[in-house]
Amino acid sequence: MRELVVLSGKGGTGKTSLTASFAFLSGRAVMADTDVDGSNLPLLFDVSVRRRESFYSGEIACVTDDLCVGCGRCESVCRFGAVHREGDRPRPKYKVDPLACEGCGFCYEVCPSKAVKLQERLTGEWFEFETRAGPLVHARLAPSGENSGKLVGLVKREARRIAKERNLDLVLVDGPPGIGCPVIASLGGVSGALFVAEPTVSGLHDFERAANLTAHFGIGSMICVNRWDLNPSLTERLEERARSLDVHPVGRVRYDRSVTQAQREGRSVVERESPAAADIRNLWKNLEL
Ligand code: SF4
Ligand code: SF4
Repeated sequence: MRELVVLSGKGGTGKTSLTASFAFLSGRAVMADTDVDGSNLPLLFDVSVRRRESFYSGEIACVTDDLCVGCGRCESVCRFGAVHREGDRPRPKYKVDPLACEGCGFCYEVCPSKAVKLQERLTGEWFEFETRAGPLVHARLAPSGENSGKLVGLVKREARRIAKERNLDLVLVDGPPGIGCPVIASLGGVSGALFVAEPTVSGLHDFERAANLTAHFGIGSMICVNRWDLNPSLTERLEERARSLDVHPVGRVRYDRSVTQAQREGRSVVERESPAAADIRNLWKNLEL
């Protein structure tokens, strides 16, 4: 089974549109949407939900009123100010603010009456969708949720499981933007990476940072310049820089309003003929997946 991660140094470069088009052209892929903080791959398809699951990560403290003797130790040891007293003596109640609790367990350790329980923290959810272009695994981190790297790992594992079950030999990972923890998690076990870059000075800088990351992990990488005709000389510079970093240029996609039109209509670019669709088809051939 092969696994390609599509990356960009920042959001809005066209990475998701390309991933959706590749899935459509392949006809044998599972998509893994690992942009768990702001995912939009499902918006490009009419999806039907096959599975929906909660994602738990870390712990959170909770006080059982009936067991609490009101000693106040939990409030005094909490360095995060997450425990609050409600009411006055002789029987005040102690409550934990779930947004402030870091799950360190100190209150649990000091409670003399075993009134503090540590529970799993609900930090997001994940979905298995069916789409016109094949199965799609997608996840959403809750607004206060942490551990996006762990959720990315889960999305990839589920995508591989589905690929195995359905005899599909390709996993297409729509990577998170940037170079942080979720991106590093998205790189685990991939066969290769494709950078989608824009011909701007910041696009060049973002690409260099991301390329250093894949080089660090020894991942063979390629680059595609999106909307290349907006700045042909910077496109040349990007591709030259890519070659010097051992990243292979595999295609260019021209600026084309039909890409935005496709997003608005909830379809991938290659589902209709257009100049950009022709470029993406060429790019797909060059990927040799
Ligand atoms: S688990 Fe830690 S952070 Fe949470 S309430 Fe207890 S002491 Fe505070
Ligand atoms: S330490 Fe335990 S018994 Fe004391 S106030 Fe907190 S929850 Fe209640």
